[in-house]
Amino acid sequence: MQGMVVTSHSLSALIDALPLPVIVIGSDNRVVAANPPIDAVLGPDLRGRHYITALRQPALLDSVVAAQAEGTPQVTRFVGRDGASDTHYRVVLSPADGNIVLTFEDQTAAEEVGQMRRDFVANVSHELRTPLTALLGFIETLGGAARNDAAARDRFLAIMEHEASRMTRLVDDLLSLSRVEEDERVRPREHVDMAALLSSVIKGLEPQLEAASVKVLLQSDGDGEMVPGDAGQLVQVFTNLIENGIKYGAAGGVVSVTLHPKAFHQRLRGEGVQIVVADKGEGIPSHHIARLTERFYRVDSHRSREVGGTGLGLAIVKHIVNRHRGRLVIESEEGQGTSVSVFLPSR
Ligand code: ADP
Repeated sequence: MQGMVVTSHSLSALIDALPLPVIVIGSDNRVVAANPPIDAVLGPDLRGRHYITALRQPALLDSVVAAQAEGTPQVTRFVGRDGASDTHYRVVLSPADGNIVLTFEDQTAAEEVGQMRRDFVANVSHELRTPLTALLGFIETLGGAARNDAAARDRFLAIMEHEASRMTRLVDDLLSLSRVEEDERVRPREHVDMAALLSSVIKGLEPQLEAASVKVLLQSDGDGEMVPGDAGQLVQVFTNLIENGIKYGAAGGVVSVTLHPKAFHQRLRGEGVQIVVADKGEGIPSHHIARLTERFYRVDSHRSREVGGTGLGLAIVKHIVNRHRGRLVIESEEGQGTSVSVFLPSR
């Protein structure tokens, strides 16, 4: 076709306009054109080099040979190893007019999501299997050896109830988490009276407080403060935080809940309220703090299970706070106690 000759100069101009990393190999096996984004993948100054020295990885080199020999598009993978972590690319090699055009698509984020999903399923299965194994063991014992032993039966039934409630809690937390994730992008519409909400959460926790001999001190300098929020979800946030204070801070005997009035907070880049839930319990070693909001992350899994934890409480809290465009700050000192601050914007 006349007038359609693409010079190497205009070819460069064309691929420079593409956002994806692209490199073109000519029929003489040399790099004819390479756009700026490819520098981050293969390094700079590729033009004119033989493709073997430019591409280096065997799978990619084989695909070039195949694309040239067969004249059909090829797809392969390339792992960028610059910097701290690997970057995974899907590379499409398209023969075009004697040249091979290679397009690199960064798949790292998609692969991480896949990995997270696999880890999550593995974690959930593991968490459910432990109580299930216990239940099956007791059912077998009750049907056999302990069939006529009334004392053993009562004891085993109590343990079975305990294990079954653990599974119920886990399933409840999983459902909350998925509900919270579902509407994470929808801004809450209600307006919530924070002081009233905190009192009602504390009232609801009275049986647990009594059982653990822990007192709650509610200090509110923000009576009547209204914040935009989802009341049901905020109840969940403070229930989880105060419950953690009871579970891990019981030794200190007191959990304090403080509502600070509306003020400017750098963390919110604007006005908001701060609610602090603090205990004088065992505290958290500092290297764990950044990871506590990950699903199933616990400082001590055995201890967490013993006090009825699922490892999902803070993950749920974090999601809800994010949905409210708030900030969650966890501070702790081993042996001194833990203080968790929730900042919620007031508009
Ligand atoms: P769990 O159900 O295990 O309590 P969370 O997500 O609520 O799960 O908390 C994760 C972990 O963080 C807990 O297992 C515990 O190790 C630690 N943690 C949370 N709150 C406190 C606290 N107030 N004091 C000490 N450790 C805490």
